[in-house]
Amino acid sequence: MRGKLVVGNWKMNGGLAANAALLAALVTGWRVGNLARPGRQMAVCVPFPYLAQARDVLAGSPIAWGAQDLSMHGAGAHTGDVSGSMVADFGGRFVIVGHSERRAQHAETDAVVAEKAKAALLTGLTAIACVGETLAEREAGEWQRVVGRQFDAIADALGADLPLAVLAYEPVWAIGTGRTATPGQAQEVHEFLRQRLVKAGAPDVMVLYGGSVKAANAAALFAQADVDGGLVGGASLDATEFLAIAGA
Ligand code: PEP
Repeated sequence: MRGKLVVGNWKMNGGLAANAALLAALVTGWRVGNLARPGRQMAVCVPFPYLAQARDVLAGSPIAWGAQDLSMHGAGAHTGDVSGSMVADFGGRFVIVGHSERRAQHAETDAVVAEKAKAALLTGLTAIACVGETLAEREAGEWQRVVGRQFDAIADALGADLPLAVLAYEPVWAIGTGRTATPGQAQEVHEFLRQRLVKAGAPDVMVLYGGSVKAANAAALFAQADVDGGLVGGASLDATEFLAIAGA
């Protein structure tokens, strides 16, 4: 059973006071809104300095937490980097790898993303590995080539451990733009990924959709056969909106 997973990506947003209010509202809202259902999970991926705060507020709650990146290395001379075992030390369960903002702003290649996914699994974290095409690539009819190439790099690196990962299809043209893929566009790509997963022996890997998911469009996206939930940026900073997405 794949279930539904909704993960908030806070990106570089937040502060101690704002986070405390948001996390408390999520914990209360989940309980009061009676959102617990078999197979339904929710998580937040916070900036590194707030991992301890997420742990302190969310421990014992049904909401999991994690980070937005990790080093591909285990330890050593990598100034400024954070390892998977450090995230795990704070009780983190998830880590996003290969977000398009990391690929674009930090020149992360498919090979780097694949190594990071491997490093996440090695430290017991669940990698949420992102793939997705740019607008130019979609308009050139190249999404299969791009998404397939990004997927293959991750699948090749993880090998028999691929079933331990989560994938996120995040079309770059839909991230933070307010322009969401239609449910049909999302399903087409998710089905393509599902076929690759089946071939790779990992048919039950969850495939999340990300890109301007909101309360207003979540139910239609999540109703698609191969959409197993969402990776949510902007809307995850608003407790009411994020809880509505998680309950969709
Ligand atoms: C994201 O950052 O992963 C994302 C999908 O952002 P947004 O929901 O704001 O488009």
